[in-house]
This record gives sequence, structure tokens and C-alpha cells, in this order.
Amino acid sequence: MQLSSLLQRFNEPETLKMAKLGRELRAKGFDITDLSLGEPDFDTPAHIKAAAKKAIDDNYSHYTPVAGYLDLREAICTKLKRDNNLEYAPENIIVSTGAKQSIANVVMSIVDAGDEVIIPTPYWVTYSEIVKMAGGVVKFVNTSLTNGYKITAAELENAITAKTKLFMFSSPCNPTGAVYSTGELNALAGVFKKHPGIFIMSDEIYEFINYEGKHASIASFDILKDRVIVINGLSKGYAMTGWRLGYIAAHPAVAKACEKVQGQITSGANAVTQRAAIAALTGDMQPTEMMVAEFTKRRKRVMELVKDIPGIECSEPQGAFYVFPVVKSYFGRSDGDIVIENADDLCMYLLNKAHVSTVTGKAFGEPNCIRISFANSMENIEKGFAKIKDALAKLV
Ligand code: PMP
Repeated sequence: MQLSSLLQRFNEPETLKMAKLGRELRAKGFDITDLSLGEPDFDTPAHIKAAAKKAIDDNYSHYTPVAGYLDLREAICTKLKRDNNLEYAPENIIVSTGAKQSIANVVMSIVDAGDEVIIPTPYWVTYSEIVKMAGGVVKFVNTSLTNGYKITAAELENAITAKTKLFMFSSPCNPTGAVYSTGELNALAGVFKKHPGIFIMSDEIYEFINYEGKHASIASFDILKDRVIVINGLSKGYAMTGWRLGYIAAHPAVAKACEKVQGQITSGANAVTQRAAIAALTGDMQPTEMMVAEFTKRRKRVMELVKDIPGIECSEPQGAFYVFPVVKSYFGRSDGDIVIENADDLCMYLLNKAHVSTVTGKAFGEPNCIRISFANSMENIEKGFAKIKDALAKLV
């Protein structure tokens, strides 16, 4: 069977692969502790569910405008002003079936074959793969634990060439939890000012899950605003991963381009989800605050548990709900059965021998690390880490 060459250009998401392998082992009767999850373990708040039920009864069962309902786009503008002090109008907003689709729309709208896209590592798995699907050339800039996993202005400047078209990053970052301060964004903005042809995709989906202070957006620098595409969505902040709702805020020309792409691929996002999204964005933020309070407690405990494991180095996440420890001291070791050569092997060892699922750092462009999620109950976190510690102790 001859399938497309496009398929050869990109990989399947490692995060979804690990979740699938974990489910398969669980179906065989193993007690799997899932610390690979990229989603809040909370239920969607009641007022949002109520709005969805009402939408069904009100017959929101028809095709929606490709860009999203006008009142939802207005609610998004109100949110962007309220939370981020950003001025946008509905013409700047395109609503999609998850932020993942928003990102795909943006890349397809901006990147031509051969264009270079700068992505600081570690990065969210999908960025590089979507760029490759679009025929773009990914240029990674490696950041490390010692610089807080953040790209500096000098590193950015060095990576820019005449072919650079787009810069993609997330703050708070999945997988490292790094959060850029206004000062750090200002330094990057200084570089972008000198290169007016470069677009900046700022993925802010973890905005509310921030343990350090207030979220800062690179879109707040007026001089860059036309070139910044803000990505956001409801999955993380409102525990709505399965509802599939993401959006962009961008210059009207970029928004129109995304609308055109989406118009041929999926049309407008789900009608019921869009009505629920209005309730989420305009409603009570207390459920979100309660989730963040719980994540804050878990982060503290997870850092204690990580420090208790020999041979691991780990920064404290400033946002999101992952730790991203450096595990390279275990490479080359064996439990007498298999030899751990790299982070992929270590994740498979932890899954098969300790029954804990994590994600290899290789998928995020950092092969010395693994990603461990704390979007799971405190009980499961304690249990998972105890199993990880035991399994690692067997590697000599
Ligand atoms: N950006 C980042 C950094 C993410 O971690 C995720 C989800 N894992 C997304 C975007 C996509 O979110 P969704 O498609 O669920 O809106």
C-alpha cells in the first residue's frame, strides 16, 4: 500500500503513545500509575456543564461560523483584556477544535516550504511535527537546567537567519514548567524588533497554572503585537481537555488566513462546546483557583519526592503541572535483565517493571530527561514516585 510521503516527515505524539501503552497494560490487569498525563485530573466545573446542557436544549445543533460565534469571540476579547491587559476585537480571534488545531492553522498560514522556524528546546511535542508537516525547517535552540530552560536574547539572535519566519514557544512551558518574566520577554522583544519579518507564536495555554506570580504575554509589547499570535484554550485552565476548544488572537490578516485553512479542514468548532466556553470565560474563576491551589500543594510534595531519588537533577516548575528531571546518570545501567541506554529505555523500563507511565524527554527535544506529570491525585503521586524510586534503585 503506497501512502503519502508526508507521513514519513513527522512522528506520532509520544505523549499519546505512552498513555495508550499504559491503557493496554491496565487492560491486561496491571496496576498502572499514570504520570504521563497532560491534562488536569479534575472534572469540568458545574456552571460550564450546565451551560452545555442548556445549549443542547436550546438546539445548538447546527454548523457554527468557521471563526467561532461572535459572542464567544467577544468573551475571548473581554478575557484577554481582563487577564492580560491586551486589546483585541472579534476580527482578531479564531476559535478552533483545541489549541492544537489553532497551532496547526497558524503554522500552515505562515510557514512555506524551506522557511526556518526557531523552537527553543525542550518544547511541546507537536510544534516541531506540525512545522515538518508544513515543509518548514525546524531550528532548535537548546536551553538547559542551568539557565532555567529559557532562551536568552543572545541565543535567539544567533539562531536567526534570512530564512527565519516563525518563533514558537510556550510560557508556562510544557514540559519544563519554565515561565518567562516580563523582563525576559522584553529582552527577546528587543531582538524581534530588529527582525520585522519574524512571526512569534506565544502558546499561553498554561497561563493560569503559574506558581510564581502573574502571567506575562509577549503580545503586550506594542511594537510586536501585529506579529505575535497568542495561542490559548480551555483544556488546562478549566479542565476541559475533551471538549476541544482553543483560540488564537492575532493580526486580522493572520486570523483570516487561519479561518481559510480551518474552513477547508474542520469548519467551526463544536456548537455546544462554544456555548460552554462562554460560560467558562465569563464565569466564576473559583474552580480554576481551587485546581491551582491543589497543583501548588502537589508541586511542593513532588519536589520533595524528586529530591529523595538519588542521581536525579530537577528544577522546580514555575508553571504547568510537570517535573522534567535529568535522568542521565541512569544511562548505561542495568537491572540484570535490560540495559538502559537512554530516556526512551528508562520510560519503557518504568512502565514495564514499575508500572508507572512517564514520557521520554526525547519527544520534547531533551534526551537526558523524562517528563513526570503531577496531574494525578496526591495518593497516586506518592504511589508512583515510590515505585519509580524502587525501580531506579535496582539499576546498577
Ligand atoms: N500547547 C501546549 C503547550 C499543550 O501542552 C497542549 C496540550 N497538551 C496544547 C497546546 C493543546 O491543547 P488542546 O489542543 O487540548 O487545546
